[in-house]
Amino acid sequence: MVLDKLGNSLRNTLAKITRSLFIDEKLINELVKDIQRSLLQADVSVRLVLEVTKKIKERALKEKALKGLDQKEHLITIVYEELTAFLGGMNEPFVIPKKKPFIIMLVGLFGNGKTTTAGKLANYYKKRGSKVAVIQTDTWRPAAYHQLKTLATQANVDFFGKEKAKDPSSIYQEFQQQFTNYDLIIVDTAGRDALSEELITELATLNDKVNADERWLVMSADVGQTAQQQAQQFHDTANVTGVIITKLDGTAKGGGALTACSVTGAPVRFIGVGEKIDDLELFNPKGFVGQLLGMGDLEALLDKAQAAISEEEAQDLGKKLLKGEFSLIDLYEQMQAMKKMGPITKIAEMIPGFNNIKIPKEALQHQEGKLELWRHLMDSMTKKELEEPDLIKGTRIERISKGSGVPASELRGLLKQYKQSKKILKLMKGGSEQDMQKMMRRMGGRGGIPGLKFSPQH
Ligand code: GDP
Ligand code: MG
Repeated sequence: MVLDKLGNSLRNTLAKITRSLFIDEKLINELVKDIQRSLLQADVSVRLVLEVTKKIKERALKEKALKGLDQKEHLITIVYEELTAFLGGMNEPFVIPKKKPFIIMLVGLFGNGKTTTAGKLANYYKKRGSKVAVIQTDTWRPAAYHQLKTLATQANVDFFGKEKAKDPSSIYQEFQQQFTNYDLIIVDTAGRDALSEELITELATLNDKVNADERWLVMSADVGQTAQQQAQQFHDTANVTGVIITKLDGTAKGGGALTACSVTGAPVRFIGVGEKIDDLELFNPKGFVGQLLGMGDLEALLDKAQAAISEEEAQDLGKKLLKGEFSLIDLYEQMQAMKKMGPITKIAEMIPGFNNIKIPKEALQHQEGKLELWRHLMDSMTKKELEEPDLIKGTRIERISKGSGVPASELRGLLKQYKQSKKILKLMKGGSEQDMQKMMRRMGGRGGIPGLKFSPQH
């Protein structure tokens, strides 16, 4: 995990609260000291550390626990809330609006990860169903052209660029006409070692030309406390609307960059957590703090729910099918298994008496390529929603779509598929458990279908 050390020490502090017999001023002082130490070690600036711990202390001393929570739980909630506010607060995770083409321009100094991030972003949105292209306007680094071209191939998106050109703005202009065909255009730019006059002039001109919808500053986590100053300078030049912190995998000190930029008013949008194209995470302060503290946020809760689900082997899919219980996770696993073994019609052929049952045609459609989108959607659902998908309506649809970055139409598709599969399973239930076991044996041995949690022994 990112910022492991910080997470560990914060979790130790919280464990101390849980272990203590009662909450008094002495314990609260100790807690505040512990948190200060942890944050300072992660390179958060002294001023910010004092600010956040002062708030925690004031609230801890003053507030009474909410109904249903004990003092300790309340204290932990205060820590969680204040740390979240500190990291950009209730900022919703970023979603690209429906504007075609939506243009994101990346800016930043040399070596901070702009080009890598351009590839990662293209990959991220391509996987979520957008039509994406990247354009290289860096005329400073001769290697930049091929670097981004290679990444575009990896992400399977279109690439624009001109290898030997000199002027960034005219490269952009040359391809601009073609961009209307895309949902998203990601513009990579040149950096320098520092924000020099030359870079400022070049960036300002390109910025006017591109007129991007978002301008994101790409900054490496190891810049530490100079992050705020850097963010401010780029903001003055290019009106920065968001920040991406890269290389959070490589430092224990990323707290500096993460917190310093959020105070400039440009929210952190994504974090880079490795060199590979998939090593990019949407930044969500609530989820991030939840993970750091190892507690009750939606995402952490989901992780736990999924772990619990795989542990509860007693409730394996086979049994659930027979009982008529069937969750979204089961559907996902079923689809994953089918990818390996072919469409549901094949399975149907193996079930005695099943050939006679009429199955709705659409339900048999193989949902190739949907699996990944579904996984993103499911990652944004609560345990309850996964188990009772019928709850997913109205604002929940919006929330899940936003949280996952996947269009609501895909979510509706998933829910439709779920309903249809459930219908089929009801039909299959007509067959006896013995038939089911026979089928599993035919499909090959003890373990049954690979990836499908069915064991005929039960
Ligand atoms: P640019 O000059 O801003 O375009 O930076 P590059 O994209 O060329 O990246 C500079 C170096 O940082 C490359 O070696 C990348 O592989 C590396 N890099 C970028 N992002 C990350 C990240 O999130 N984690 C790690 N470990 N390395 C990264
Ligand atoms: Mg570059």
